[in-house]
Amino acid sequence: MKAAKNYKFWFCTGSQDLYGDECLRKVADHSAKIVEGLNATGKLPFEVVLKPTLIDQASIRKTFNDANNDEDCAGVITWMHTFSPAKMWIIGLQEYKKPLCHLHTQFNQEIPYDSIDMDFMNENQSAHGDREYGHIVSRMGIERKIVVGHWTDEKVVDKLAGWMRTAIGVMESSHIRVCRFGDNMNNVAVTEGDKVEAQIKFGWEIDHYNVNDLVEYVDAVAAGDVNALVDEYYSKYKIINEGRDLDEFKKHVAVQAQIEIGMEKFLEDNNYHAFVTHFGMLGGLKQLPGLAVQRLMEKGYGFGGEGDWKTAAMVRLMKIMAEGTKDAKGTSFMEDYTYNLVPGKEGILQAHMLEVCPSIADGEIGIKVNPLTMGNREDPARLVFTSKTGPAVATSLVDLGNRFRLIINAVDCKKCEKPMPKLPVATAFWTPQPDLATGAEAWILAGGAHHTAFSYDLSVDQMVDWAAAMGIESVVIDNSTTIRGFKNELRWNAIAFK
Ligand code: MN
Repeated sequence: MKAAKNYKFWFCTGSQDLYGDECLRKVADHSAKIVEGLNATGKLPFEVVLKPTLIDQASIRKTFNDANNDEDCAGVITWMHTFSPAKMWIIGLQEYKKPLCHLHTQFNQEIPYDSIDMDFMNENQSAHGDREYGHIVSRMGIERKIVVGHWTDEKVVDKLAGWMRTAIGVMESSHIRVCRFGDNMNNVAVTEGDKVEAQIKFGWEIDHYNVNDLVEYVDAVAAGDVNALVDEYYSKYKIINEGRDLDEFKKHVAVQAQIEIGMEKFLEDNNYHAFVTHFGMLGGLKQLPGLAVQRLMEKGYGFGGEGDWKTAAMVRLMKIMAEGTKDAKGTSFMEDYTYNLVPGKEGILQAHMLEVCPSIADGEIGIKVNPLTMGNREDPARLVFTSKTGPAVATSLVDLGNRFRLIINAVDCKKCEKPMPKLPVATAFWTPQPDLATGAEAWILAGGAHHTAFSYDLSVDQMVDWAAAMGIESVVIDNSTTIRGFKNELRWNAIAFK
């Protein structure tokens, strides 16, 4: 699986030559200490690299263009230590193409009451210089993240870390390739979309293959490789045969192992990061890919069911944004299925026919073989488990005809009240914020799908910032949502994104 690169972020301090070399020497020294301090926190997912202080139009323009051309640079963090006349930033900003962060900080945390004089004020005037810089970025309509506070403050470091992951989402989005083993499910609206517009907006390349091109890969897998993978499954997962003949059970599991190996090789050979399947378009496949898809999602591939390429790309995107998160809890394709409407216990049971990513599993993972009620293939093997508890985000990217909208719902994941021994699929259970009735009403008003890209490891803000960087509409459903306010927001957005 292709992971993200070893990205770096450039730290660019703005100043000018008005206050002399001694002042500029201090500016450079402060910037070096801040960069060193930020890297030393161990909380940033990527390294910050110090660049020379920018004091004129030529150095600013060159630095931004160098950042554009450096493959490993995923974004620039800017900070105006002193006053930096913003007209000299215009051409550099015009030519800059990567994520931009404005770290509105200052070197000292406290006003040095006893010693402060005008020299100190002139040297340490981010409150002043960052406003001049911020003005030009706003006037030019450039999307950027603003992080405010002292650089040693944990909240500031956390915000910077979160933005870095959003920036990786922006950088990686530009070359996500989605492989469609089958088209959109007939007559289904919400999983459809404009693939040309998606490539223009997000950079996603969305291709289609006849599923029998995949079947050739699956058929070519050596029996020894299949047996070895089946052994791995049997050592890793609990076998829940429920009275089925053990040999027959194992044969069904082996079909999924063969699909996993064949599919992974196909995706690697053809350089894809995400894929979709369709239960009604299986060609020569013996089973709907279930366990195989679950394992590939765990390896980092995006997935969408029934031809849903938008969700497949979003799952890949969110997996790459969350990659390497300490104590990660997981990211998956998901689907709203059934409600619990008992007062005080409201929530949505989440699952799919088969394809839920085991990265979100809590505790033991089992294998079951059960019939599908749809399609016409043999009973597929699948991984079954329940999911972790805690806060998470569920997102749905929809195509409204004239634009994309990303719907972002903060959800609270819980344990189901009771086990569901007859349900042969992996599940999660959550209550949407602010409550089921308001959350579901807002989701429906916004046109959100039944499929979601879901993660415990990303925040609402990170997804909002990603959408903003992509130039698309996003709406948030969380504890501050009211239906009256939300309806107005949708109304206003219809004008803003016309
Ligand atoms: Mn589905």
